[in-house]
Amino acid sequence: MKHTLAFLSLIIFCTVPVASQTIADTLFLHITIPEEDTTITPFSRYRISGGTHPDARAFINGEEVKVYANGAFAKLIFLEKDTTIVEFKVEMSGESISRDMLYLRPVPAEPIEPGSKTITEEMMLPNDDIWLRSGDVLMVRFKGSSGEKAVFNIDGFKRNIPMQEVEGSDGIYTGSYEVLPGDNVSEQHITFKVKKGLFGYVKKKSPYKVSFNGLPRVAETTTDRAHLNIGMGTDRLGGARYGYLEEGVRLKVIGLLRNHYKVQLSSALSAWVPVSHAQLLPEGTRIPESLTGNIRITGNDKEDIITLNLSDKLPYTSKQELDPNKIVVNVWGATSNTNWKTKHLSSEGIKEVEWRQVEDGSYQLTIELNHKQNWGYSVGYGWGSQMVIKVKRPPVVQDSLKPLTGMTIAVDAGHGGSNNGALGSTGLMEKQVNLEISEKLDSLLSERGAKTVMTRPDDSYMLMHDRADMVLDNNSDMLVSIHANSLGYTSDPFEIRGTGAFYKHTAFKPLAEKMYEKMLELGFVEYGITGSFNFTLNAPIEFPNVLVETAFMSHPEEEILLSDPDFQTRIAEQIVAGLEEYFLEYADTSNLK
Ligand SMILES: [Zn+2]
Repeated sequence: MKHTLAFLSLIIFCTVPVASQTIADTLFLHITIPEEDTTITPFSRYRISGGTHPDARAFINGEEVKVYANGAFAKLIFLEKDTTIVEFKVEMSGESISRDMLYLRPVPAEPIEPGSKTITEEMMLPNDDIWLRSGDVLMVRFKGSSGEKAVFNIDGFKRNIPMQEVEGSDGIYTGSYEVLPGDNVSEQHITFKVKKGLFGYVKKKSPYKVSFNGLPRVAETTTDRAHLNIGMGTDRLGGARYGYLEEGVRLKVIGLLRNHYKVQLSSALSAWVPVSHAQLLPEGTRIPESLTGNIRITGNDKEDIITLNLSDKLPYTSKQELDPNKIVVNVWGATSNTNWKTKHLSSEGIKEVEWRQVEDGSYQLTIELNHKQNWGYSVGYGWGSQMVIKVKRPPVVQDSLKPLTGMTIAVDAGHGGSNNGALGSTGLMEKQVNLEISEKLDSLLSERGAKTVMTRPDDSYMLMHDRADMVLDNNSDMLVSIHANSLGYTSDPFEIRGTGAFYKHTAFKPLAEKMYEKMLELGFVEYGITGSFNFTLNAPIEFPNVLVETAFMSHPEEEILLSDPDFQTRIAEQIVAGLEEYFLEYADTSNLK
């Protein structure tokens, strides 16, 4: 049934060219970016894009701009200091439409009068609860009137610790306190003070609490995708991450800052876990650590299994190596008492497992595989606190002419529902392009014998983790995520274009390279292959995954291609061809001989 439907939709796409945007006969002006008539921006440049009738001429502030075959036009404009009016005008057969858009640069905040003895909450630190221990440094800050004598109190503990005004900052004061071994502070506030008169102060209390010592504590992860972050970094993709931990993993907490527990991994390494992903266990809970037991290596017909007995569910990280194909797992807080390793012949996919104690609290397993490509693996706990590492074997190719026969390929159409993704100049939405390409991919994959899993079969909003779960629950052999790229609102729309492939884990780089090669064959220029990419659907280690950023929505010429059903089919065909080549190269083809 699914096959028939998919086939029908392909026929419709091939025989009736459905334009993504119906062009009216009359002149029109549609401004896509900016999205509002009045835009407030701190930046001095802004991208403009819009659509009109393809036969029209378009002008921005009197200067003619190119109108593309789909009616798109775009330009980067430079803004004046406070108010910029941008006039749009389109003309066709003596008719014209004009519209003004307003850009405002935010007015800088009213300066604080020097000597006015003011303390504001702007830029104040701490800005959430903090736990520190001996040797850590508490950093405090506020913004106020310039040229004051400023100090801070750690309430109930220490008074009048001096602060300095940062040179040239016009009223930003910083101070610090290094926590000493005997300092016991439990949930106290910081009070900032600026001297007024001979004995008086103007005061302001931070709403957040600080605690010193009383650490370490023990926390336990409360979700199967608890983030184990490397540092406190953030960006639109989230901070850089070692990986995920499953529920029930015990953590040695040595600090709290910005809503993250600081977790000790080894004697030299720490990581950060969001407070919302772990719960603190009662004071006095035994600090997680373990001697390791012996290593057992077995297998079944689909995967190889490595088990290691521990007395606690300790945190772990893993990474991969290629040439030779290896998986390296670190168990944090473990000390080796591994006195032997036992390997069954059933563990066909495993060449060798080696262990070493890297440093105090860092036990490392290196698993060398017998095949040249990683097809996914998992690290977690089985019964009790036995660590179980499952390594997938390469899927078996049954038909050299249709190598995807019987394979399960997950196709992820990016964005959807309330999340439109990037916008093309004409207002074309990325979510629509992604879905149209994914539907074509779905049909072609089915024709080539694959079973498909569509993470978003229609225009609905889907959470990233639900998408990942769907891929896992259906035992997919691989995931291809389809997106279209865009520049930000302050970039020149003509500056960057082209196709890109993205991966996070080293193991899945060859898949990204294959997809990239296939996209370049369509004539796109190079945007590049991006590794270590911190995208949620590039994070799973359980299956090979790749993100294909087909082309740029923000470039009018590429928007034309992305909206063209025939070109969408060519993109889908290239991806399928790439997958077939990939399976022939890396899957198990021993059955074909
Ligand atoms: Zn996207």
